[in-house]
Amino acid sequence: MEPSIQRILLSDREIHLRGGSDLASRAHVLLRQQKETWPLLSTGYAGLSGVRTRTMDVDGFTIRVQWNPARIVSSSAKVDDESIRQRKCFLCAANLPGDQRGILFAGSHIVLCNPFPIFTEHFTIPHTTHTLQRIGASFGTMLDLAHAMQKRYMLTYNGPKSGASAPDHLHFQAGEKGFLPIEKEITRLVAEGEVLSDTKAMRVVAVDAGLRRFFVLRSGERESLIGALRVLESALAGVTGEKDEPMMNILAWFDRGSWIVLIFPRSKHRPSMYFAQGDEKILISPAATDCGGVLTTPLERDFGRLTADRVREIFGEIFLSVEVFQAARANLASNLTPR
Ligand SMILES: [Zn+2]
Repeated sequence: MEPSIQRILLSDREIHLRGGSDLASRAHVLLRQQKETWPLLSTGYAGLSGVRTRTMDVDGFTIRVQWNPARIVSSSAKVDDESIRQRKCFLCAANLPGDQRGILFAGSHIVLCNPFPIFTEHFTIPHTTHTLQRIGASFGTMLDLAHAMQKRYMLTYNGPKSGASAPDHLHFQAGEKGFLPIEKEITRLVAEGEVLSDTKAMRVVAVDAGLRRFFVLRSGERESLIGALRVLESALAGVTGEKDEPMMNILAWFDRGSWIVLIFPRSKHRPSMYFAQGDEKILISPAATDCGGVLTTPLERDFGRLTADRVREIFGEIFLSVEVFQAARANLASNLTPR
């Protein structure tokens, strides 16, 4: 193993000293250790405890707006090719701050604490090598992480053009279960959704609930989910004409023997109000947590201006239109094993 990776790993002895053996418990211990030994992280969490939030009902859904000044780094991150080429990658082990420590998972990913948290326990889980942010070959690892962390955390994935601030370095994030409003709404949404496939192995549902359009996969079989994502990717590529990975955000967690995976296809990286000038400008760069119902803005001015109408406008722009979603749904339904 590279010395730069070896240097940051928290030893088993340090973890066992504080208890916990599954990955969720170990990550929880890592966070405690890092709050004590890494000033940037303790500052980040001290800031989080002071953030203001406001909860709204938007068309029957709970939306929580969070004014989180520390997120300015991520919300305003330049993710064009040239800017990415010119900066040092902040997820490569060799460039991590001296106080940062991590836990190795499956020999290929490192669980790290995110110093700019949105969740009250927030982790970033990069690959150990500098490799492009793509879900195709790494979805299995995301499922494995969701399984290994099921005791406390859920997993998120932001596509390279859908909110990831490091599109050049493969990574997931994890945060505590129960934080995103959509977790409590999902049973109702699935019940009201359209079943596209329902076999012993897996259930696939399309949800067109006005505010958001997305797909839900539920299965206890890892390979079935990986196969379904592949079919969905090609369905989305077919209807959007995207040559690269179709734009998407994913939420995944494991509960009572099954994975629940929410896939939000996207049509835009950032809403037009992000690029507007003057009073019209609102600094919001939606990612998986926003899809889950927690909208983060780093500016106090924008916190006050994120009304229900503006949430509708943002979601209306960044997700697929009704027509494109219906085309993807039809394509997906015809390529999945029927009920
Ligand atoms: Zn990197």
